[in-house]
Amino acid sequence: MGERVAVETPHPRAAAGHVAERLDGRRLEAVEAVGKNLLLSFEGGLVLRSHLRMSGRWQVVERGSARRGTPWLVLTGSEREAVLWNGPVLELSARAARRLGPDILASPPDLPAMVASLRRGPGGRELGDALLDQRLVAGIGNVWKAEALWQAELSPWLRLGDVSDEELERILVEAARLMRASLEGGRPVRSVYRKAGRPCPRCGAAIRSRGQGDDNRTAYWCPSCQPER
Ligand SMILES: [Zn+2]
Repeated sequence: MGERVAVETPHPRAAAGHVAERLDGRRLEAVEAVGKNLLLSFEGGLVLRSHLRMSGRWQVVERGSARRGTPWLVLTGSEREAVLWNGPVLELSARAARRLGPDILASPPDLPAMVASLRRGPGGRELGDALLDQRLVAGIGNVWKAEALWQAELSPWLRLGDVSDEELERILVEAARLMRASLEGGRPVRSVYRKAGRPCPRCGAAIRSRGQGDDNRTAYWCPSCQPER
């Protein structure tokens, strides 16, 4: 950070975004993880957002190190270079940082800020749908949404307006705890995710699943210990 960097996008799919032309030679001012996004801020207010999904990888190596294959992006400073492999999401904008809500993986997570953020949306929105909205809380994916709701014993189909602040905090605490454990290499515990038809580990009722929200992401829940009220 703090250096002017040479920017190349060797991979043709990355080159299509004209990222290199716009960033080459600019000073890299900050690198920040927000949820699962890595935000690289360059002078002039440009922000490059990288999201690795399941397949991407960042590597920092000595400048000029040998490499095999075609990386998406290479940032070269005076001594080191940062190399992005399989960067499925690479988006350049001036506003990326502001569009994301508070980070669930901040330590400690800012619970009041996340609750306030969730409250800014319409009260009729379904809880499970709102938890996936990265503009409200950044970092919760579909797996941890399902698992955190099950831990908190709250249905993804409840309306935000019918859920108390204390209940929202309970979900966020569970999400942060599960995600941190997973990051630290703990064995992932899946109680409901992709367990439709199997017995709930807590009460034995059959787990259900159904698409939710505009993106139709599959929600998993126990109809007995996560009742709809
Ligand atoms: Zn149950």
